[in-house]
Amino acid sequence: MCYCGTETPFELCCKVIIQQQSAETPEQLMRSRYSAFACHSFDYIIDTHHPSTLDTLTKQDLEESAEATQWLCLKVINTSPIQALSPQEYFAEVEFVATYQSNGSFYNLHEHSYFETILGKWFYKSGKEGKLSGLYKPERNELCPCQSKKKYKKCCYV
Ligand SMILES: [Zn+2]
Ligand SMILES: [Zn+2]
Repeated sequence: MCYCGTETPFELCCKVIIQQQSAETPEQLMRSRYSAFACHSFDYIIDTHHPSTLDTLTKQDLEESAEATQWLCLKVINTSPIQALSPQEYFAEVEFVATYQSNGSFYNLHEHSYFETILGKWFYKSGKEGKLSGLYKPERNELCPCQSKKKYKKCCYV
């Protein structure tokens, strides 16, 4: 299984897209960027970030913020239709919830990501946080979000 939640192994799914920078749709780019966060391919995060909103984000920032964060799973909730920005350029929005673990607690990141093309290639431009973001407390009998396939109460529950 790939980090991004498909049944395809990482090697045949996001790894290829990350190596070849070959995302063809906004959802593919979103999924492969999530996988790049999960496997610390930070160059890809920078390379697929729209230059106009990259500001001062560096690989080092990403490395530091990743230290205490373990990405666990991704759910793509909605992908908007691709719309034209100009005769050559396009944009689309992808809504997702990603779950991560940090210092023993679980969190959800809910985001509406906005993607735009430059010369036909997709870039992540900006994100708006959604209502489901924040601390995530699983039910005791739920499967543990750490992906162990054990019940929460028998796994990470403290
Ligand atoms: Zn994938
Ligand atoms: Zn667990």
